[in-house]
Amino acid sequence: MSDEKCWAESLGGCGGPITSEHLATKSLFGNRIRIEGGFLGTPAVETSIRKLTANILCRDHNSELGRTADAEARRLSRHLKASHSPMELPGSRILRPPVERRVSGVNFGRWLCKTHCNYMIVHGMIPDPTYVCYAFLHSPTKPIYFYLASGLGEALRLADARDPVVSWSQFICDGKPDFDGFNISLAGFKMVVSTAPIQRNGLQMIDRIRMVEWPTPLGPFRIVFNWDGEPQPVPAPCTRELLSSPGTRLKALC
Ligand SMILES: [Zn+2]
Repeated sequence: MSDEKCWAESLGGCGGPITSEHLATKSLFGNRIRIEGGFLGTPAVETSIRKLTANILCRDHNSELGRTADAEARRLSRHLKASHSPMELPGSRILRPPVERRVSGVNFGRWLCKTHCNYMIVHGMIPDPTYVCYAFLHSPTKPIYFYLASGLGEALRLADARDPVVSWSQFICDGKPDFDGFNISLAGFKMVVSTAPIQRNGLQMIDRIRMVEWPTPLGPFRIVFNWDGEPQPVPAPCTRELLSSPGTRLKALC
């Protein structure tokens, strides 16, 4: 991008220079990453993680997300890996009942939103301001739905080494060109995020999953999500005319 600008500028609180932001959290990857789905159906590409950076966030916003959103994505990724051997503890040969794992749903949601914003900005598109707001805990003007892409009772295959660690794609909604939704998979944990309710093939879509669990002979292995402290949507009744001017959307709605 020619003019470097922080994509969270409309929220205020920028500080420091525009820094190199990894499109998807760097520490989740090895040296190579396979990007699946790509932008509007472009073929999957494999690229070096070092290339997946862009100067799109200021230092202060970047580091805030590092401490919160990125840290939570790493934590969830560790828990998903632990689901492969849920009764083992490091350094011990004795199998134990699985320990309950906890994740901040809010910070995971922030990571989903900021990863989407990164990809959209890099592709020259403006993400829905709702996602910019949520990424930094500002009240958005629309609700956000965080759906687990699997239906109730579907088996999850997680943290499979053959899966790309993170994949992102836009969620296209026929007949609604302004619609901005997306799919993100973290180690096979697939989420569909949208500002409008979604139904999928009659399956019950779960918004803001509270718990996933796998049975083991010593009791269930559980990952519990806590969604307390979410920014609550505040409707903005007089933004209709502003919406028609894309250049002012971010500033007008946040
Ligand atoms: Zn900033």
